[in-house]
Amino acid sequence: MTHLTSSGQGTVVAIDGPAGSGKSSVSRAAARALGFAYQDTGAAYRALAWTALEAGIDTSDPEQLIALLGEFNYSIGVHPDDYFVRVGATDVTEAIREPRVTAVVSAVARVPEVRSYLVELFRSIIRSSDRAGIIVEGRDITTVVAPDAIVRILLTATEEARMARRSAELSTESAAKTAQQLSSRDAQDSKVVDFMNAADGVVTIDSTELDFDQTVSAVVDLVREHTNTD
Ligand code: C5P
Repeated sequence: MTHLTSSGQGTVVAIDGPAGSGKSSVSRAAARALGFAYQDTGAAYRALAWTALEAGIDTSDPEQLIALLGEFNYSIGVHPDDYFVRVGATDVTEAIREPRVTAVVSAVARVPEVRSYLVELFRSIIRSSDRAGIIVEGRDITTVVAPDAIVRILLTATEEARMARRSAELSTESAAKTAQQLSSRDAQDSKVVDFMNAADGVVTIDSTELDFDQTVSAVVDLVREHTNTD
């Protein structure tokens, strides 16, 4: 088994949580504060879903999705100040956030062959990072991608708080529609991976009563406690 601890590739911090928990922005800000890299793993599932849509593939057909993996030429920026997502030469940073992609991403992510392929990709990106550490965020990072990470965090917030934050971000969609989409995506995703309950050894940070900076500090403090850095 690959040990993604604090060995040659630096400190690995794993963060999981549901949609709207603020994982991405918190992870990116914490990585910046610590001088670490940051890997958004949801972006790869989204980029594969985008590729499938562009190719006109039926995203409910696992065989067609699996056939795409061989030519999936994915790259992501892991520097917190230089975030991008590319498929081949195409920059898809914005396109992968479109509602048409979000609507099919869970179907793509439930295919076991897709998951095992991407888990290996995530590990190779972790290994290739040249910073002192890397924060990796997603749904199965604490349990599957980097179960040996030196710090493992489940970032949660009440459903109400998560819905409110997400609908504040998306001004064009009604809050009710956003809430409904978010909870149905969580429901589909949690059939595949349990990211609502902390696995053994995983620290829960509940951000319901914390503002953004307080949540980032909670993550940064925890990492410093475990790595004796300041
Ligand atoms: O984090 P984000 O909302 O961008 O993730 C998009 C989708 O990718 C999730 O809804 C989930 O289906 C999938 N995902 C996953 N495992 C991860 C990260 C994301 O299944 N580690």
